[in-house]
Amino acid sequence: MLYMHRLCRVRPIFLLTEINFTHPRARMLSQVSSANMAGRPRANRFQIVPVNEVMNNAQILQETWRLVTLSRELADTGAAMQWLARRRLIRNSLLCGNCNAPCQLQNRSTIHDGKHWACEPCRYYKSIRGHSFFERSHLSFHDIMLLVYCWSNDYPQDTTMREVNIGSRRIVIDWFNFCRE
Ligand SMILES: [Zn+2]
Repeated sequence: MLYMHRLCRVRPIFLLTEINFTHPRARMLSQVSSANMAGRPRANRFQIVPVNEVMNNAQILQETWRLVTLSRELADTGAAMQWLARRRLIRNSLLCGNCNAPCQLQNRSTIHDGKHWACEPCRYYKSIRGHSFFERSHLSFHDIMLLVYCWSNDYPQDTTMREVNIGSRRIVIDWFNFCRE
């Protein structure tokens, strides 16, 4: 599912997400989630954020960001993950590819993002970044979103390198090319 994520007024951004809310498996997962909820909806161990916090396209398109506000929101990896899940830029939940049960969000200090999806009985493990815009890179969510912001605002490469604090021009060029595609 392709949708427009507006980071600024200059240029809309197209990002690829795989979440399809009408898919039967997605429906099943939301039923599992609500069955686990008592009273006020809360994120459980099968979700990054509560289902009711996931934004629709209209809500996302109403947002506008500046470099400083975006950077602040994404500074902490856990907060960045929630920010991205709310905007459907990463999956909020995942079903096991083997047994179809909801995967748990598990802490894993040895991996870059600090968490991954896991179905222990099946030994099924998936990256938080799977099937997302972020899958191709080891840069932090923060740095990637800032790169996308800089591209979407037509920042020159030198300005982008300085603002995002990236030492390699190659990385900036690669991401700008990727955004253009
Ligand atoms: Zn499983």
